[in-house]
Amino acid sequence: MTTQQLSTQIIHSIPVDPLTGAISVPIYQTSTFVQEAPGVHKGFDYSRTNNPTRKILEDILTNLEQGDAGFAFASGLAAVDAVLKLLKAGDEILAVDDIYGGSFRIFTHIYQKFGITVKYINTTDITEVIEHISEQTKFIWIETPTNPTLKVSDIRAISAIAKTVDALLVVDNTFASPALQQPILLGADIVIHSATKYLGGHSDIIAGAVITKTPELSEKIKFIQNASGTILAPFDSWLLIRGIETLPLRIQKHCENAVQIANYLKSEPLIDKLYYPGLASHHNHLIAKKQQSAFGSVISFTLKTDTLEAAQEFVCETQLFKLAESLGGVKSLLCHPAQMTHKSIPAPTRQAAGVADSLIRLSVGLEDATDLINDLKQAFKKVALNQKKTEILTNTLA
Ligand SMILES: *Cc1c(COP(=O)(O)O)cnc(C)c1O
Repeated sequence: MTTQQLSTQIIHSIPVDPLTGAISVPIYQTSTFVQEAPGVHKGFDYSRTNNPTRKILEDILTNLEQGDAGFAFASGLAAVDAVLKLLKAGDEILAVDDIYGGSFRIFTHIYQKFGITVKYINTTDITEVIEHISEQTKFIWIETPTNPTLKVSDIRAISAIAKTVDALLVVDNTFASPALQQPILLGADIVIHSATKYLGGHSDIIAGAVITKTPELSEKIKFIQNASGTILAPFDSWLLIRGIETLPLRIQKHCENAVQIANYLKSEPLIDKLYYPGLASHHNHLIAKKQQSAFGSVISFTLKTDTLEAAQEFVCETQLFKLAESLGGVKSLLCHPAQMTHKSIPAPTRQAAGVADSLIRLSVGLEDATDLINDLKQAFKKVALNQKKTEILTNTLA
């Protein structure tokens, strides 16, 4: 489907209010619903179980990911948590080795003590997935592309492996968004989103989503959502609907900007490694090309001076790129994972996963690409000048 068709489909999957004709979805800010007689109501009895505003959002999510049903949660991690509750003691997860830190934390510090084990493997290597899969494997859990080195795993190939032992393939689709990649159509069983990122798109909410492929899984997640209660509130559901309306348009511009910036960064002399799945030089470029319609707007790079200090200096010099965690919003952000998102991971483990001391992650926003490039250029210039000064100073003192 083209971006134009996707836009039409999304915009018109948002219904006009049948009661009043309101073109914007009403916010049903209510906890409960009046019943005619016990159990006789209009499909809604209590807002934890079901809320009309959230219901519209959940239908939009279902349509976006081409699943059987969608579920909106209070955060991406609440969505992760709901999916983990499908498991029981003794079950095993095979997970991508550079998984989102929050997912690693909930696996390790919450679910391990309930007897669920996780094996971290390099899911970009199909032979490694085949080697580790067993009868105990209940989930293969991937993110593609990953954070922050943008590794890409082959969804179709991994889904075929999962089926051999009746394991489910769970795909955290946060970094690609459904505008670029629809994992269920490639064989995934469950899709997860931190809707805080591209789906919301404006850095103004924390939200999560689960989309299921089969009615059987939908029924289980619906039960867990109601039983555990980590639902998305009506107002945040409304904000998320508003964000999703412009998803294809935003993603298109995000990607166009990112391609221009990645092409500029290729020739930047202070950079050592550059990570962007859209570049032919990217390790998993061909898989990305096969399963994504474009390559997103997260770009990471390391500096030739691979120190925490060099990266810190750079991230404090940009003006348009604001220093903050998170991604996928209209404003460009940058972050220094070694000191921010990945700070809690021991340095050797972090470095082994490719998150070097000087690694910097960009979330390219919707500003003018030339302005963004000029912002990066002036920051590199300042870092280069400071490096020269330090060199002269050490030589003079020596
Ligand atoms: C941010 C993020 C999450 C967690 O989402 P929250 O909305 O912050 O709870 C999960 N997975 C990925 C890939 C993320 O980037």
